Amino acid sequence: MQFDDDANLDTSEVQDVRGSRLPGGRATIGGGIVGLVALLLGLFFGVGPDQLGLSSGGDQAAPTSSSLAQVQQSCRTGRDANTRYDCRAVAVVNSVQDYWTQEFRRRGRTYTPSSTVLFSDRIGTACGTATSAVGPFYCPGDRKVYLDLGFFDELRSKFGASGGPFAQAYVIAHEYGHHVQDLLGVLGRSQDGLTGENSGSVRTELQADCYAGVWARHATTTPDESTGRPLITSLTAADIRDGLDAAAAVGDDRIQERFQGRVTPETWTHGSALQRQQWFQQGYRTGDMARCDTFR
Ligand SMILES: [Zn+2]
Repeated sequence: MQFDDDANLDTSEVQDVRGSRLPGGRATIGGGIVGLVALLLGLFFGVGPDQLGLSSGGDQAAPTSSSLAQVQQSCRTGRDANTRYDCRAVAVVNSVQDYWTQEFRRRGRTYTPSSTVLFSDRIGTACGTATSAVGPFYCPGDRKVYLDLGFFDELRSKFGASGGPFAQAYVIAHEYGHHVQDLLGVLGRSQDGLTGENSGSVRTELQADCYAGVWARHATTTPDESTGRPLITSLTAADIRDGLDAAAAVGDDRIQERFQGRVTPETWTHGSALQRQQWFQQGYRTGDMARCDTFR
């Protein structure tokens, strides 16, 4: 994955609060998690979201470090995205949102941009307080994507994915898939409280994978707002393989096998490795969000 060296990055789409600390005190557990959609939501711990460090505290991250807003200081151009992984996240957020802005316009709708919050350790959100253990997630309550960049190391070390720059892009595009669902009013369907292969939750997750693939198809042809040229200049077959590999690594069956030693499809919330790959590919092959109807 290569970015146009001369493109300007739009850092207004990313809030960088890495290095912030939440105020001390015991977190209150229970009742505070409202419809948060995570990439994998802690299945690997075999616990419910309440035990994952999510709580209902209304606490806000308080800056304690002068290293805040690093991306605002360091991520100016595509050249930075080609050399720094946090700037790469900014560039991917820009590309994904440029695509959906233009696609919504083609469909006579309006895309409302959502910001990505880069955090470390813990973060207060409208969905409750979350720790990094939750993995990347989208919170419908404040319509933001939350990301601890340390997760991408875990993808390799803990989940056995090959990693690679495009694995990061897949994860970000998946979370923005949830934002697209939210804007289209589809996201509520995941809240049927059920699990298993045909649950609303699995269908919602697979659709977000499909939307990630749709963006990937158009990533190198979507004009950037600042230059009119695509921000992403090259995506190779190896990049797409990295994305598929990441999608498989966070499949419910893979995670269950790895962390609980057996596969229990009736508890799936995100879909199997194969399903996640297939739906990403479906989006990538067709480039058409209308072909992402996982609810049919
Ligand atoms: Zn998800």
